[in-house]
Amino acid sequence: MKTLSPIFLSLLSIFFFNGCSPSKEKAINDPTRVLIVVGPSNHAPGTHEVAAGGRLIEYCLENMENVSGFEADVVYEWANIPQPLDAYASIVFIGDNFPAERFENADQAMEDIAGMMARGCGLICVHYGVGLQNEHMGPDGDHPLLHWMGGYFAAKCDHHQSIARHYDATIEAADSEHPIARGWNTFTLREEPYINIYFGPNDNQLLPNAFAVATSMLPPEDPKREMIAWGTERPDTGRGIGITMPHFYKNWLNEDLRRFILNSIVWSAKQEVPEEGVQTQLPVLETFEPESVEFVPKKK
Ligand SMILES: [Zn+2]
Repeated sequence: MKTLSPIFLSLLSIFFFNGCSPSKEKAINDPTRVLIVVGPSNHAPGTHEVAAGGRLIEYCLENMENVSGFEADVVYEWANIPQPLDAYASIVFIGDNFPAERFENADQAMEDIAGMMARGCGLICVHYGVGLQNEHMGPDGDHPLLHWMGGYFAAKCDHHQSIARHYDATIEAADSEHPIARGWNTFTLREEPYINIYFGPNDNQLLPNAFAVATSMLPPEDPKREMIAWGTERPDTGRGIGITMPHFYKNWLNEDLRRFILNSIVWSAKQEVPEEGVQTQLPVLETFEPESVEFVPKKK
């Protein structure tokens, strides 16, 4: 019998080690990297909890039960980012107002992020991370975030006023066929889903590439269908999503909300969202070192 050549044997071993487990190969060779950027916040303990929330997102992404290959880095300033910016498939922002605008080196951060967006990087903002103020934009309300994400919370802006209140809100997926809607059901919880979001200068209609992700009938005394999460698929191929929750840290325990957010991050990184949605263990909230798990009113 003819002996097998060493080259053939090495090809065979590559096939058996890698060919049979594509997801494992991906995990070893080609991780999907997500950068989680935590901005400043001065909300009461148990609310916002942006640093703990960032660490929780990192943990969940690296421990998804049915999606492999994700690695995440958390930074608390726009400096010392562990990987080259080109290594990241998506950026998640959590903080009070869009964190990039809150850093001392905001101009550098905005320029770097613009470069990442131009190559099709994803972008997600959660809760108040979707917010901008007058000082961040010109009088017409235009800002790069509008184009990167498809809309923003206009916090006391001259051109538009979005609204933040607490409700027992019922959250519904806007398009049940969209990958972000996989594996979670309409849910109701005490939250602060922002309404009257700013979507653009054309009578607040969505820009051409933007779409609704989730809606809620708000406010209770005069309900109309409000977009409380939205997204865009940009001409640069990048995907942006704004999700106006969670205000309360303990709402990360809500399976539907957590899956909705994790689905969105996976989708923004251009990876496949499983049919049943992203599955994760219930996180132990204390592990991520919040000031408090439960809401504690601020001392005046
Ligand atoms: Zn809030």
